[in-house]
Amino acid sequence: MSAEAAASEFKFCPVCAAPLVLRADDDAGKLRPACPHGHWTHWDNPLPVLAAIVELDGRILLARNAAWSEGKFALITGFMERDETPEQGIARELKEETDLDAGEITLVGVYEFMRKNELIIAYHVKASGVVRLSPELLEYRLVEPADLLPWRAGTGYAVADWMRLRGLAVTFVDTLGAAPTLQSAQ
Ligand SMILES: [Zn+2]
Repeated sequence: MSAEAAASEFKFCPVCAAPLVLRADDDAGKLRPACPHGHWTHWDNPLPVLAAIVELDGRILLARNAAWSEGKFALITGFMERDETPEQGIARELKEETDLDAGEITLVGVYEFMRKNELIIAYHVKASGVVRLSPELLEYRLVEPADLLPWRAGTGYAVADWMRLRGLAVTFVDTLGAAPTLQSAQ
């Protein structure tokens, strides 16, 4: 039994409720939890997450999640819905979380976030409107692009790449809370 398979939280087939067995269901031979009757395999593929570097009147919007400690700010992020493109998804998330309207949407890059088994798809979004935060978000800040301090994980790499594209010097912070003001973090 591999460590990953042993660590799976899934015990039963979601179709027939049979206890899962460990089985190699692809050519790579990796053991994964699977239904003994062939209904389902727990592939455990990374989940795509959309992220937006939101530009409003030349500054970048960072928001603090209601569950986060003081001083921790991040990009707008969210999961995709079925039957929407990633561009539609990030525009929808932006509207839901800030009430801003997305204008030009440009892909910055795709980034690993293995800690959460996620794949970050990061966009630069030019936004317009008046910020009205959803209850999920406690507060926001608008930061001059040159003052962004990305951290060394997840969306921090997207922010850094976007800054470099604009010719800005990048100063990383190693952990959240390492800088007194603003960070961008997934
Ligand atoms: Zn089954």
